[in-house]
Amino acid sequence: MIEKIKETVKKLFKENKIDIFIGYSEGTLPLRSTPCFITRSEDIEKLVWNSYCSNNLAVYLPRFFVSQRGAKDAKLPRIGILAKGCDGRSIVGLIKEHQIPRENIYIIGIHCGGMINTKKIKKVDIVAAEEKNDKVLVEDEDKKKVELKKEELLADMCKTCQYTAPAVYDILLGKEKQKTKKEDREAFIKEFEKKPLEERWEYFQEQISKCIRCNACRQACPNCYCKECFAEQAKPRWIGPTNDISDVMFYQIGRIFHQAGRCVDCGACVRACPMGVDLRVFTYKLIKDVKEFFEYEAGVSLEEAPPLATFKQDDKQEFITEP
Ligand code: SF4
Ligand code: SF4
Ligand code: SF4
Repeated sequence: MIEKIKETVKKLFKENKIDIFIGYSEGTLPLRSTPCFITRSEDIEKLVWNSYCSNNLAVYLPRFFVSQRGAKDAKLPRIGILAKGCDGRSIVGLIKEHQIPRENIYIIGIHCGGMINTKKIKKVDIVAAEEKNDKVLVEDEDKKKVELKKEELLADMCKTCQYTAPAVYDILLGKEKQKTKKEDREAFIKEFEKKPLEERWEYFQEQISKCIRCNACRQACPNCYCKECFAEQAKPRWIGPTNDISDVMFYQIGRIFHQAGRCVDCGACVRACPMGVDLRVFTYKLIKDVKEFFEYEAGVSLEEAPPLATFKQDDKQEFITEP
């Protein structure tokens, strides 16, 4: 697959269709790949594709265009990007929210087999790792090798992903992946919903009390592109800058609700959190509710209007009063 990616990127540079390509290169630690920005075809060899290409690359796109917005005769960059299903959905969201122009983005879509959550690997002293088909071979300091099953290490959102390839792309590489049933994806949130309100509130408080307000979740999320976040606004000041529980709750509730109809369950915020806050249970609850109330899923169509940007006479309104 990596050869196909390199070949495609090489062609794009040769035909002068892009100025920059965003993909992944080898990380500095085992089991890590890092986002990389290629501006000349000599660097294409740096590109990699493996089960550690977790970052949602769409997060980088708006910053290429924000400084030129409204500028007369602005020469906008032409950007090529490697997009897994979730990255692709974020790109669609950014186009719909007018943060990036579709014509300046060349999307190399890829069928994604899921990314590994390295936190699921219990060994801590890994010095080398190698991926072979559905296995990961890790080696520790004493040269002891252990073979792990990739399937058991997949991130939770990847295990039941329904959109393993982007819906919008210029070229699509790889073979279609088998998907699990949609019901399986919802199972964890349905379990959470069964709990009494007090218990859910208690869980929210327990999780949020771990938060240190480092903002890593916000910075990793492609939807959090505001130049000035509501959490930092001084006029008016919505919340204090402290990690006092009421400030933290306000921050989290604000950020989570701003994801309504926009979150694509890419898991970037969850991965970025150094405190292990279970953010997904809250963001996924919104995904599920938006789907139920408005029959809308983020990032799967360029044409469909986002539910919070439009209305229908018969829109459900229970959410206004119901918890
Ligand atoms: S959520 Fe889906 S598209 Fe995104 S990394 Fe996981 S399996 Fe791939
Ligand atoms: S809120 Fe989290 S899961 Fe949702 S799009 Fe942003 S980073 Fe991805
Ligand atoms: S990444 Fe985690 S600790 Fe940091 S602000 Fe987000 S939830 Fe809080």
